[in-house]
Amino acid sequence: MELNSKIYVAGHKGLVGSAILRALQSKGYHNLVLRTSSELDLRNREEVYNLFQQEKIEYMFLAAAKVGGIAANNDYPADFIRDNLFIQTNVIDAAYQFNIKKLLFLGSTCIYPKFAPQPLKEEYLLTGELEPTNQPYAIAKIAGINMCQSYNRQYGTKYISVMPTNMYGPHDNFDLKTSHVLPALIRKFHDAKENNIPAVEVWGTGNPRREFLHSDDLAEACLFLMDHYNESEIINVGVGSDISIKELAELIQTIVGYEGEIVFNSSIPDGTPRKLVDVTKISLLGWEAKISLENGLRSVYQAFQKEYLIKQ
Ligand code: GDP
Repeated sequence: MELNSKIYVAGHKGLVGSAILRALQSKGYHNLVLRTSSELDLRNREEVYNLFQQEKIEYMFLAAAKVGGIAANNDYPADFIRDNLFIQTNVIDAAYQFNIKKLLFLGSTCIYPKFAPQPLKEEYLLTGELEPTNQPYAIAKIAGINMCQSYNRQYGTKYISVMPTNMYGPHDNFDLKTSHVLPALIRKFHDAKENNIPAVEVWGTGNPRREFLHSDDLAEACLFLMDHYNESEIINVGVGSDISIKELAELIQTIVGYEGEIVFNSSIPDGTPRKLVDVTKISLLGWEAKISLENGLRSVYQAFQKEYLIKQ
């Protein structure tokens, strides 16, 4: 990418897209195409094609998706598969029809089989059964990966697919019904501290293990891969280590300064037991994550307090 290349960030208001936008702007990329979801509905083919016709897009980051935590995936399976299939099909095909130079598609580690060996290597894709709690989302993402690969093979396009591990950062979703575990726990511990609630409920057994990547690290990885990665095979982005949900809860409890108890509700599903990605491939290219979980959590908690207090 040149500093004056025309770059479209789809989903620039979300956790990942907003981080990619910050990274691009801080490096001096200024010819950016941005549309909010109220300005452009990516599920609508005509609207997407009109955008590509109007703007001569050269590079694009496809960070727009319907996303959510374990409960949202369970409650809205149809929305997760439909919206994601529509968004990615419209965008990837428009990118081809309007001849853009390169596209980066963001997937997720839930595309890997539930019981795949850990850490998850890129080659484990499609080698076993998926985790049922987020299967519709995972199948949509697998279709997106395959679409990028198939277009590359048949049409000679340059579409790359990046699999980030569980992410967190500013502009996350803190709604307890739909969020992922990390923002949910920040909010639960904060609210419990403010209201002197004696215990915080953590879903599941606390035993599942997850890896957490700050969105600013992911954004750096995406810009790096846009410039240095040209293969059709997927590539993981992670930090290379994971922690249990119990350990995460204790860390957030300390950072928030909550002195009550933690109670595990094992009647709520744990989801996949472990999701740690193998980062050998991206490390060999010369990239690694820089933000430690503790520092990342502290800064996200500060940002949350600002945003949250403004809204109240
Ligand atoms: P996943 O990584 O796709 O399973 O999605 P989540 O981030 O929603 O959940 C990760 C793990 O954290 C699961 O084992 C959840 O049961 C557990 N968890 C514990 N407390 C919470 C909570 O308050 N919200 C969410 N979303 N997950 C929680």
